[in-house]
Amino acid sequence: MSEFDVSEADSGEEQAQTLPVVAVVGRPNVGKSSLVNRIIGRREAVVEDVPGVTRDRVAYDAEWQNTQFTLVDTGGWETSVSGLAAMVARQAEYAAQTADVILFVVDATVGITDADEAVTRVLRATKRPVVLAANKVDGSMQESDALGLWNLGVGEPYPISALHGRGTGDLLDAVVAAFPEQPRGEDETDSEDGPPRVALLGRPNVGKSSLLNRLAGEERVVVDSVAGTTRDAVDELIELGGKTWKFIDTAGIRRRFRALQGADYYATMRTGAALERAEVAVVLMDVSAPLAEQDIRVVEQVVEAGRGLVLAFNKWDVLDEERRVYLEKEIDRQLGRVAWAPRVNISAKTGRHMERLVPAIETSLAGWSQRIPTGQLNNWLKELVAQTPPPVRGGKQPKILFATQAGARPPHFVLFTTGFLEDNYRRFIERRLREDFGFEGSPVHLSMRIRE
Ligand code: GDP
Repeated sequence: MSEFDVSEADSGEEQAQTLPVVAVVGRPNVGKSSLVNRIIGRREAVVEDVPGVTRDRVAYDAEWQNTQFTLVDTGGWETSVSGLAAMVARQAEYAAQTADVILFVVDATVGITDADEAVTRVLRATKRPVVLAANKVDGSMQESDALGLWNLGVGEPYPISALHGRGTGDLLDAVVAAFPEQPRGEDETDSEDGPPRVALLGRPNVGKSSLLNRLAGEERVVVDSVAGTTRDAVDELIELGGKTWKFIDTAGIRRRFRALQGADYYATMRTGAALERAEVAVVLMDVSAPLAEQDIRVVEQVVEAGRGLVLAFNKWDVLDEERRVYLEKEIDRQLGRVAWAPRVNISAKTGRHMERLVPAIETSLAGWSQRIPTGQLNNWLKELVAQTPPPVRGGKQPKILFATQAGARPPHFVLFTTGFLEDNYRRFIERRLREDFGFEGSPVHLSMRIRE
């Protein structure tokens, strides 16, 4: 995958890791859709393979022998018919740009056509591995037809029958063998075992230890600490809403940093360390004081760490009406960027709305873990792009060929494109993703993979 130019949505974002992508190319009527259906194990009626007829979906989640990959049906990419050979050559070009392995399907009973040769020329020019499927070899009668496809010069033809399933196992073995180095799937360090891990964050005096004490259901002595002794993280298991939660680094909450030199710096470090181990963060803010830069910074740290986020506004008991009106404006202005985060207005002192905290945390965890199947995602994307295409850039209209959700916790999407998508457009996609699928309480990463 290193051959791709990777352009990231935001600076500093790590490179997107996706499953291997297999693109199925070939002229119409060779049986691409049947093969796609066969591979993804779908028994639906085959969409008619006619030039100019767009399919409703282009990309699917697929698996062979415990290896997962994204299967792309290029049939849906080009709708204009500017000559058959030109059209399939164009599809093959897109495929070569975006796929790790190209699955080239030829009809063995027809033999090599002009369009097949046009595809071959494109594929020869790329460095992508090509696996050649000689389709419609329904019985031994057609075996010799398949042999004729050696003449294409793209390697061994695998005789298959997409319709009956004959030979597809060997074909898929060859496809999987051609995958690049093992891609990283999920982040292994993000174990889903054990109780959900919550970081309780916020600047000093917003009420973290008061809240923790209330949640833990007992008053505890808050020990003043000196620098150095706060390093040991202590996690506490707390029962809430009939479930056990692990609160991360509660030692950092229970012990106070008081007017320490560089306390800010240590607080930031500590927050970062807690976030690394947490799945979701509750950022506590004090409504009796104006929102401070430090409040915003903690929120930004959560977003940058890619963790679920809950905004908890504490000391609601001392909030008067005038301040409340002002606070709403402050929140809109300063926290508009995280409008997707659930909010709770609480009082650690009186216990107000404590029962709302757990549902808010659960909402964030769910949004953080959410996955959209590749087929559904592309169905949705296709409609979105048809309604609002990406803006023209440098006289060219970038095409979004397909998308996959490369990971969850947090959700991470990769768009495979033929050109650069403007920030505005990517934000538009993110906004619509949230509107239509939720992802409440979670940052969403969107990156592009383009080859200009
Ligand atoms: P921490 O530094 O974030 O752990 O904050 P603390 O829990 O030590 O609270 C700082 C101060 O705010 C203490 O004097 C608390 O009694 C007070 N406090 C905490 N929560 C509330 C609340 O909900 N309402 C009011 N009025 N005071 C609170």
